[in-house]
Amino acid sequence: MTAPGARRTVEVALPLPLFRTFTYALENTPQYPVVPGTRVVVPVRTRSEIGVCVAVDRRADDARLRPVLDVPDAEPAFTRGTLELCRWAASYYVVPLGVVLRAALPALLTGVRAPRPVQRTRRVAVLVREVPSLAARDALFGRAARQRELFELLESAGGRLDVAHITRQLGFSASVLDGLVTRGLVTIEGEIAPRDPFAGRVAAHARQAHVPTAAQRNAIDALLAAEPGHAFLLHGITGSGKTLVYLEFLREVVERRGKGAILLVPEIALTPQTVDRVRAVFGDAVAVLHSGLSDGERYDAWLALRRGTKRIAVGARSAVFAPIADLGAIVVDEEHESTYKNGETPRYHAREMAIVRARAEGAVAVLGSATPSLESWWNAERGKYRLLTLPERAGAGRLPRVQVVDLRARHDRGEGDDAARRGGAPIGRRAGAHAGARTTADGADGGAAFALQRVLSPELEQALETRLGRGEQSILLLNRRGYASFVQCESCGTVQVCPDCSISLTYHRAPERLVCHYCLHEELPSRTCLRCGGTAVRHRGLGTQQVERLVAERFPAARIARMDVDTTSGKWAHADILDRVARGDVEILLGTQMIAKGLDFPNVTLVGIIDADVGMNLPDFRAAERSFQLMHQVAGRAGRGPKGGLVVIQTRMPSHYAVTCALAHDYAGFVRQELSGRRDPRYPPLTRLINVVVSGTIEEETADLALHAGDWLTRLLAARPDERVSVVGPAPCPIERIQRRWRWHLLLKGERAEAMTRVARYFSRRFEVPTRAGLRVVLDRDPVSLL
Ligand code: ADP
Ligand code: ZN
Repeated sequence: MTAPGARRTVEVALPLPLFRTFTYALENTPQYPVVPGTRVVVPVRTRSEIGVCVAVDRRADDARLRPVLDVPDAEPAFTRGTLELCRWAASYYVVPLGVVLRAALPALLTGVRAPRPVQRTRRVAVLVREVPSLAARDALFGRAARQRELFELLESAGGRLDVAHITRQLGFSASVLDGLVTRGLVTIEGEIAPRDPFAGRVAAHARQAHVPTAAQRNAIDALLAAEPGHAFLLHGITGSGKTLVYLEFLREVVERRGKGAILLVPEIALTPQTVDRVRAVFGDAVAVLHSGLSDGERYDAWLALRRGTKRIAVGARSAVFAPIADLGAIVVDEEHESTYKNGETPRYHAREMAIVRARAEGAVAVLGSATPSLESWWNAERGKYRLLTLPERAGAGRLPRVQVVDLRARHDRGEGDDAARRGGAPIGRRAGAHAGARTTADGADGGAAFALQRVLSPELEQALETRLGRGEQSILLLNRRGYASFVQCESCGTVQVCPDCSISLTYHRAPERLVCHYCLHEELPSRTCLRCGGTAVRHRGLGTQQVERLVAERFPAARIARMDVDTTSGKWAHADILDRVARGDVEILLGTQMIAKGLDFPNVTLVGIIDADVGMNLPDFRAAERSFQLMHQVAGRAGRGPKGGLVVIQTRMPSHYAVTCALAHDYAGFVRQELSGRRDPRYPPLTRLINVVVSGTIEEETADLALHAGDWLTRLLAARPDERVSVVGPAPCPIERIQRRWRWHLLLKGERAEAMTRVARYFSRRFEVPTRAGLRVVLDRDPVSLL
């Protein structure tokens, strides 16, 4: 029923900082159908912009409506499910819908230009004629020895070879190949080359043919019997075989029920073993959304999911938007990881999104961890998630023995001097027995002994030596990269800080420079103090580079690999290091929290935590939780094989409950103490938080705006007592300045999600942010960090 004078219009969401959609007219007949979820090209002022149709309508003819310019895709970019998910995120995180939609699309689909052709062709040389007898060959090729060589190579390769491979890797000139073509022996064909960079990674070794344990069977059965939309928390201790549970469940979902599935992992580069295991079971049905993919590769993977030619998406947080139409399951592995929270707008948490999406699409959600987040644990306790437990290690492994070494008892002399500079003596092998050399840290080569023992207590050193002697592997964790964590002037005490952030600069060696770990600012270390001109500087606080050096000097024959941000810049660098560990080419793997994520190496029998206190005293309510998770997770890398394992935790806070609970493998005990610490003042999961961060380039303006926002919110909340939302602050953020921006924050606290949404939405729309001094206000709902 078309009203007279009405014509077709579409509501379009655009990636603009405005909480509204825009109406455009659909003129003529577009080349492809327009439905909610379809990308459209529309005019915005004088530009063209990609937007997403969120509704189709008929409106009274209005000459001012501008027309849709183009409809580039044959099928909508968003499924009904992913469009709904984005709507939810826009509402919950208080972000314009167009901004969320933009974040959910692969980069190639965010530009006005059409994506590159989906597949590239490559040229292959194909043998078309045989030359059976040797005599015939001699006659044919005569003195063209290279042609004969290539001909025979093609034969042995089964008759087909990539032309690029022939000329680049095998070193034949194009004229040799042309010669074969001219003789009619070979033709050149075009062939479609898949842009799947994982195709070459053979995953056969990852196949697991275990019979599930009773606990695994129970968990699998519970998942198979689950009602659509239900959520589970799989609490399985480290090494309990959670992966096998996921895979058996996914096999049923994908192969027998014919549905699609998503497996979220904290960071894909860090979890090659999990990816390999999934690929070993599902092969080409898996689309791996690796952050190292080129835009084209990413788009191909995305399109294969959209079209259903691939059924399983494996990826980090953004894979929660994977365009799978008929979704049966979402698994969130290591659900406690903070990488699931997006660090920029829209600041969604992929774990919460997974639950919401599963519920809306009738899929089953599984959150797995050995150290569940307090939020998920709380939800399980209150019956929102069903709890499944794997209380024992699968296979031959047993939980490792844990030993705590109190660093205070040994060298309470202030931490972190660079011994080489202080003592002057190079750090070499110490003379004498362990105890002797150690207790005399003030002796002639005391500096050296001191530096070494700061890193390796006698207990840890002994344990390493034993492992090396037995041909077993060890893991050393220090969650701080670089060489020394700060540089301090000996005479005036000044610490060198980043000019743009209120953060001390980390000293790196090889190449030598000072680096800000927040903004990546770099500078050459100056020989003199910038404040007093003093010439003596101390390097304080340990980093992984220094540990590597000290361990290498103590065990010169040991094969050591270091894994941190500085050693893993290449696309496959993580996988390469981990492959070397798997092959036994590495005896000591040293690294930051990167090495704590899900690694499964049966020959690792020792884990040493060099300094458990890193991170424990951060001014963040999650500091203890993070520290416990990290200790517990890295400890879980030991003793996965029949040889058992040992964990050595070095700390100055041996009686802190995060340490004592890690010592006892006591997750439940940790949760009990941690929860009681979040009661007064209340912190999640006992309340909900929105962190309102005010930032700007001028300190005073930033503070003023934060104070004004505080007053504004206080007045608003006083007028709306029923919402039961309160405001805390404002105060400067613990890190007061990042990238030249001053930062203040205030916290909204409340118990009911809808009330929080209402308050946040009202604030976002009504509170005016002046357009000066770079002032900005950002809402971070359910923040994972308050720094
Ligand atoms: P988690 O992720 O729970 O820490 P994994 O899934 O990595 O544990 O499994 C730990 C180890 O136990 C792996 O080497 C795996 O092959 C093995 N495993 C898993 N299930 C079984 C089983 N039912 N029988 C024997 N070994 C198993
Ligand atoms: Zn900086």
